Amino acid sequence: TYIVKDECIKCKFMDCVEVCPVDCFYEGENMLVIHPDECIDCGVCEPECPVDAIVPDTEDEPDGKWLAINSKYAELWPVI
Ligand code: SF4
Repeated sequence: TYIVKDECIKCKFMDCVEVCPVDCFYEGENMLVIHPDECIDCGVCEPECPVDAIVPDTEDEPDGKWLAINSKYAELWPVI
């Protein structure tokens, strides 16, 4: 799965959301997250992000911090 990291905070671009074929981005007050169970790992969103906030979960922090945050908030926040 891909994850959204803190570079996304306050970014106003939504290009990633537009290209996702399975609509697995969710929007919170300050950033977007990706639902890890819905992401099909296609990778098309990664180059669309102007702040390089989207990365494969293999490039997450060593403790999997951002994967956990994406997973948690994807369940809480509304679909875009
Ligand atoms: Fe959507 Fe593909 Fe990005 Fe996953 S990798 S969030 S399926 S565009």
